[in-house]
Amino acid sequence: MKRILVCECCFSEIGLFEDTEVFLPLEPDMFEPREHGFPPPFQPDADWLSMFCPVCSSRAVGWDEHSPDLGRENRILAKVPGGNPEYFIVPEADDETEDVAVLPVVAAPAVKRAYKKGKKRGR
Ligand SMILES: [Zn+2]
Repeated sequence: MKRILVCECCFSEIGLFEDTEVFLPLEPDMFEPREHGFPPPFQPDADWLSMFCPVCSSRAVGWDEHSPDLGRENRILAKVPGGNPEYFIVPEADDETEDVAVLPVVAAPAVKRAYKKGKKRGR
């Protein structure tokens, strides 16, 4: 099923992906433009830490306020057309399961707040 990739910082719909074709490690070419005729959402040589949102320029994927480095590669925010954003759990490349795991979103706004606080503390 095609899902819409949602930026975890600004909640913009920034790309599309096929949920059976996204595996760890995340690669920019797993994500297509949101609409035909638009550029792909990420630079082709970006790793997951530099997959920046084309709308807000923050890292678009993999935020986790409970992780020491605020990162968690295997979770991206996505939705189906007309649905609400959910965390999509990215499987390992050799994971044979065909089930798609999604979790309801409760944490994304808090992640953004934690990141801002962390930046201030670091100065
Ligand atoms: Zn964004």
